[in-house]
Amino acid sequence: MRPFAYERATSVQDALERHSDGAVYLGGGTNLVDLMRLGVEEPARLVDVAHLPHDQIELRPDGSLVIGAAVSNSALAADRTVREGHPMLAQAVLAGASGQVRNLATVAGNLLQRTRCPYFQDASKPCNKRDPGSGCPAREGEHHNLAIMGHSPECVATHPSDMAVALAALGASIRIQGRAGERTIPIDELHRLPENEPERDTTLEPGDLITAVEVPPLGMPSRYRKVRERASFAFALVSVAAALDVDDGVVRDVRLALGGVAHKPWRAWHTEDALRGAEMTGESFQRAAEVELGVAEPLRDNAYKVPLVRNLIVRTLTELAERGAS
Ligand SMILES: Cc1cc2nc3c(=O)[nH]c(=O)nc-3n(C[C@H](O)[C@H](O)[C@H](O)COP(=O)(O)OP(=O)(O)OC[C@H]3O[C@@H](n4cnc5c(N)ncnc54)[C@H](O)[C@@H]3O)c2cc1C
Ligand code: SF4
Repeated sequence: MRPFAYERATSVQDALERHSDGAVYLGGGTNLVDLMRLGVEEPARLVDVAHLPHDQIELRPDGSLVIGAAVSNSALAADRTVREGHPMLAQAVLAGASGQVRNLATVAGNLLQRTRCPYFQDASKPCNKRDPGSGCPAREGEHHNLAIMGHSPECVATHPSDMAVALAALGASIRIQGRAGERTIPIDELHRLPENEPERDTTLEPGDLITAVEVPPLGMPSRYRKVRERASFAFALVSVAAALDVDDGVVRDVRLALGGVAHKPWRAWHTEDALRGAEMTGESFQRAAEVELGVAEPLRDNAYKVPLVRNLIVRTLTELAERGAS
């Protein structure tokens, strides 16, 4: 591993000042340090932001949440207000990693973890994301767990976070402190599709520090479901975060996001539009799922994800509909 300096930020301003060329922020280190060991990331300096006072979860009177960026994944999943008001978020966090990793991992670090594409993690291989212009061996090589939607000739990677999928379905916003001041953006605008700049996972600018995640109130049953190759330590093949509000057999409101299908958590806006006002039946759930999956462009070895995610959408919505109707 290349030698690096370690500094602990004492305030947001201090973090911003310490972040200069060659420096990166350090959360729990569960992704970043692994990538440093692999020679994929080689920062000259780590600025530890896990000890800033962003470790609280605030429940506002309207039922919305403000989750500090340094809250651990374990604390988030265990929080009673989260489990009661936004159960799909707690379920998504618990579906990821292990207890030990979740104890260290922070909310911001989870959102910004990097793809698990095998070529990205192997510094001896070409990879446009790690080494722009070097090529994308995954497209013709090992891609059975990579993207079926929104990919580009330059990159077919998927975003690995479970938590981010639930936050996408919940319409969360990300609070960012940058060199030009504070701003808040919808989570849909945080992660980006690869296009011709796969080296950029997000829209963040150098030095941008995530300080909190704001989650609006939900007020309807919700569920996170993940399909993986084994029961633990496995990233999603596909996942679904859904919330459904039904009234007299008709869908009044719905939220849906998909994981394991694209370079970013995929908010299924077309399915949501097709479902509002539709009958609460398996057929209408299936038709609405097809609307979104119509844009899928699976690769040679990952077409299995299309029926897998369609069935997962239908199963999850059916379960929520039965709960809402009972
Ligand atoms: C064995 C194993 C299994 C796993 N399985 C899953 C899984 O199934 N599902 C899943 O979702 N995840 C899984 N993970 C990933 C895990 O969730 C992430 O490693 C973790 O959430 C990253 O959080 P962290 O705080 O440790 O981030 P770090 O590793 O510290 O940082 C990650 C990135 O975030 C940046 N960063 C950190 N904080 C900030 C901030 N405040 N502002 C701006 N940038 C910041 C860092 O610079 C870095 O680029 C697994 C990890 C391991 C080791
Ligand atoms: S899919 Fe993206 S991350 Fe994977 S090898 Fe291609 S460019 Fe690299």
